[in-house]
Amino acid sequence: MKYVSTRGKASVLRFDEVLLAGLARDGGLYVPEEYPCFTKSEISNMQGLSYTELALRIILPFVEGVISEKDLRIIIEKSYKNFNHTAIAPLKQMGHNLWLMELFHGPTLAFKDYALQFLGNVFEHVLSKRNERVTIIGATSGDTGSAAIEACKDRDCMDIFILHPEGKVSEVQRRQMTTVHSSNVFNIALEGSFDDCQNMVKALFNNQPFRDEFNLSAVNSINWVRIMAQIVYYFYAALALGAPAKKVSFAIPTGNFGNIFAGYCASRMGLPIQQLVIGSNSNDIITRFFETGSMVMSEVVPTTSPSMDIQISSNFERFLFELYGHDSDEIVHLMNDFQQNGKYSVKKELWQKAKTIFDSCKCDDDKVQKIIAETFQNTGEMLDPHSAIGFFAGKTKGKYPQIPMVAFATAHAAKFSDAVKTATGKKPHLPDFLNDLLEREENYVKMPNNQEKIQAFIRDNAGKRKKT
Ligand SMILES: *Cc1c(COP(=O)(O)O)cnc(C)c1O
Repeated sequence: MKYVSTRGKASVLRFDEVLLAGLARDGGLYVPEEYPCFTKSEISNMQGLSYTELALRIILPFVEGVISEKDLRIIIEKSYKNFNHTAIAPLKQMGHNLWLMELFHGPTLAFKDYALQFLGNVFEHVLSKRNERVTIIGATSGDTGSAAIEACKDRDCMDIFILHPEGKVSEVQRRQMTTVHSSNVFNIALEGSFDDCQNMVKALFNNQPFRDEFNLSAVNSINWVRIMAQIVYYFYAALALGAPAKKVSFAIPTGNFGNIFAGYCASRMGLPIQQLVIGSNSNDIITRFFETGSMVMSEVVPTTSPSMDIQISSNFERFLFELYGHDSDEIVHLMNDFQQNGKYSVKKELWQKAKTIFDSCKCDDDKVQKIIAETFQNTGEMLDPHSAIGFFAGKTKGKYPQIPMVAFATAHAAKFSDAVKTATGKKPHLPDFLNDLLEREENYVKMPNNQEKIQAFIRDNAGKRKKT
């Protein structure tokens, strides 16, 4: 399998090179040159597989020639053994043909564990084979940071620096990052927004000498490997609900467009998906895109679903690349427009084409409260604000009552307990293994939004674990 950049100028790479590169050197994102496609009978044969057995089948074609089946099996088994539910990704019925897939049973209680636990183990495997070491730099609006730290802590082959916007993540989210005490983990509270954090990470990557000196690597969803690992649960849900004989639809609370793009990949791989419904919070740039055909940036407003308080959905570029038939010149053009003018428009017929599989809707904080309260009353399930947005989107936009709609619950309610308590009158409890989180000692540095200073901090701290 070969990987190409959406902007067409960076080298074509193998799987291990894509893993380590993160962002492509031309500013684009890596995608498979061609998606592996399963036949209907191959998909039928996947029925009844456990989550890890299924993951092996789905992921193998993407890593062929770089990781052997035997090694991949070990990596996958290690990655999902710390999950707190034997089904890994359990499905719950919430109404007629309406399902919830709980993707919060990993060590940090958000869906990001599904990809990042895997990513950590793949990094270790590939780095030890290549005898290399990396410095991982990531920006987080809350959940990525803790999932990445949990996946990378205590590993000799890497250091990890995570930037979060100071004061803009929930206390549980912050503590899940800052209470991990490991000599290769560094938390930075940046004075700014999540987009400032993400721009800082991009700027560090664009400083080529710095990037090379520290062998920078990314764990944000710009890293292809995260998308790849997320494809698995689309298959897992659809198979449980009768695919490939039957079609399935999905509804996903969306920020950076990583999770839902994995659903698009699954459909390209042969999974019969009818609809992919996007749920947006008040930062509804993607919903406005599907309504108008134009992506128009505006200010980020804070909501009770902070992991979706984003205006630049990086992974949308991957979808545009497919929509434009791999015409990277067009992508460069659109991305330049966006950077210079804060907007771009796609050709009308392509916008129409995008809408044959995607649909989208907005859910503001008032509606989030209503959905959480109503769902708790009707089913006893406590949705976190992100999950409530996906659930609302699935209920609102599902066009085919005979086709199952699977909404993703992307975080545990206790990660956002204030919003959930306001809506339900009941405080959701953290699982036992995180019981004492609020008493644990925190460790982080506060820093200004200044590239020189961040670089100096990394220079002072990277590689300490190796030396000791
Ligand atoms: C990251 C996150 C999202 C958004 O996912 P994207 O892949 O960025 O679209 C939604 N919900 C939760 C809880 C998250 O942590």
